Formats: sequence, structure tokens, C-alpha cells
Amino acid sequence: MTKTFAVIGDPIDHSLSPNIHNSAFKELQIDATYIAYRIPKDELSAGIEALKKIKITGFNVTIPHKIGMMEFLNVIDDDCKLIGATNTVTNDDGNLTGHNTDMDGFLDPIKKRDLSCKGANVLLLGAGGAARAIVAALAKEKANKLVVANRTKENAVQLVQFANSLKLDATNTDFGSAGDTASQFSFIINATSIGLKGEPCPISTQNINKDSVVYDIVYMPMKTQLLTQAKSRGATIIYGYEMLLAQAMRSFEIWFGKKAPFDAMKKTLLGGF
Ligand code: NDP
Repeated sequence: MTKTFAVIGDPIDHSLSPNIHNSAFKELQIDATYIAYRIPKDELSAGIEALKKIKITGFNVTIPHKIGMMEFLNVIDDDCKLIGATNTVTNDDGNLTGHNTDMDGFLDPIKKRDLSCKGANVLLLGAGGAARAIVAALAKEKANKLVVANRTKENAVQLVQFANSLKLDATNTDFGSAGDTASQFSFIINATSIGLKGEPCPISTQNINKDSVVYDIVYMPMKTQLLTQAKSRGATIIYGYEMLLAQAMRSFEIWFGKKAPFDAMKKTLLGGF
């Protein structure tokens, strides 16, 4: 029988996930299909019942359901528990298991470049859901020190508390002047949504230098202003699409227990830009 997969969220029309996963199924000749399913914020319970009725094999979860989905899970894996949110679910006869591929997805492009966050001083811009997964990843990798800069200070303070609870030395700093301190950090990560609409850089890039790794998790457009300017200053840059791809591959591997077809999935993803 054809296996069915989905990504749930709202809005969902522009999700790249169906194309990426369907290309993987095609490449490996797997009898499966992956759809985008819009579930409004207050209709999650009914939406999940509908997915169970069609005997969905697995699904990805995106904004606004990553946290809300947790209460519908029967089993929660370690990463998911740590972050307090899920983005990948498997369905075994109505029994739902939650995973979170954000942490591994974030770390994968770093590891692929033979870089490491171990012992690194990190400037993290943003304090939303993605930033929380990044903090968990930095704690797992034993970063030396984290500084969080966010528009809304209370959210930065909460994220710092979360980092401290994971034994990661963290403080917060003013968002407006964070760029001035850029040369003190070996990793500068943008986890705000600034760049999505082609906005200028979230921080001033004057003090970014060739010793920095600048990682922008915004993946649309592929080359954000931040990455373009960081590159011109000689920094190593990491694109947001790399994290997106690594996450999709990890979901595939959770569902199928075998290696995802990297080349086919990457080609489809880059074709979507
Ligand atoms: P959230 O809505 O949870 O967080 C948004 C963050 O951006 C908050 O820190 C918010 O600050 C900040 N922000 C939003 N608008 C502005 C602004 N105009 N000026 C300053 N700060 C702003 O979103 P997520 O954490 O889920 O996602 C953040 C971004 O990361 C999105 O662009 C998303 O597409 C991308 N992403 C990429 C992934 C990938 O695989 N590459 C995976 C997940 C997300 P405040 O607290 O003040 O509101």
C-alpha cells in the first residue's frame, strides 16, 4: 500500500518539504507520497485525528504547532524532550512518536566542514523556537560561551535561562549594538527571521572577520544580506538551506531507517529557489 506523509502547519502553501521528500521517494523508488496539509492553530486535535484516519505513516510539524503537538504524542525522544518541541512524528497504528531534527540539522553543515562548536564563543541572534534548538545543540557540543541578542529582551533572558539550565555559560546583550562585538566570536548565528523579506543585515557586519563562521538559518533567499556581507569580509559562511536539507534527510532516515538520497534532495531543494 502507498505510504502517506505530510507536513502540517499554517501557512503551509510555500513549504519546500513536499518537493524534497517526493524527490527522495522517486529516487529510491519508494511507494509513498508527501503532501502539505494546512491545520490552523486551534484545529490541531481534529487535524491529527484526520491524519490517523488516513493511516499517515509520518509527518513533519512546522509553525505554529511545534510545541502544541507535544501533548498529542505517546512517545517523546530525547532531543524532543530537551527542546520541548517536535518537528518529526511517526505513526504506528495510532501511536505517535515525536522526534526533533532541528538540533542535528543545525549541526550537520558545521560538521560537514570539519568545524566544531566545542569551546567556541557564540553570538546568537534571535530567541524563538529555532534559537532554542540551536542552544540545545550548542550545549550538547559544549560551546564555551553563548551571548544571545534579541529584539525583545525578555525572550533573550528566557533563552539564557534555558542555556544555563543545560550548563551552558550564557548572557544576553543589546540587539542594536551586538554587531560591534562581532570580532569576539568564532560563530555568529542568525536565528531571527530578518532576511526573509530581503531586509538588510540584522547586525552591523563591520567587525566580522576571516576568523568567524557566519551561519544564517534563514534559507529564503538563499544568499541573505548577512551572508553576502560576511563573505566579503572573508568569513566562512553557512547557508540556511543546508540546515533545512539536513533536517529533511534526518526525518527521512527516522521514517525509513535508511540513508536519505542527498544529491536528489539537494537538487530539488536548490531548484525550488
Ligand atoms: P519564531 O517566530 O519562533 O522566532 C522569530 C525570531 O525572530 C524571534 O527572536 C524574533 O524576535 C525575531 N524577529 C522577528 N522579526 C524581527 C524583526 N523585525 N527585528 C528583530 N527581530 C525579529 O521563528 P523560528 O525561530 O521558528 O524561525 C526563525 C527563522 O528561522 C525563520 O526565518 C525560519 O524560516 C528560519 N528557520 C530555518 C530553519 C532551517 O532549517 N534553515 C529551521 C527553522 C527556522 P522577538 O522575540 O523580538 O519577537
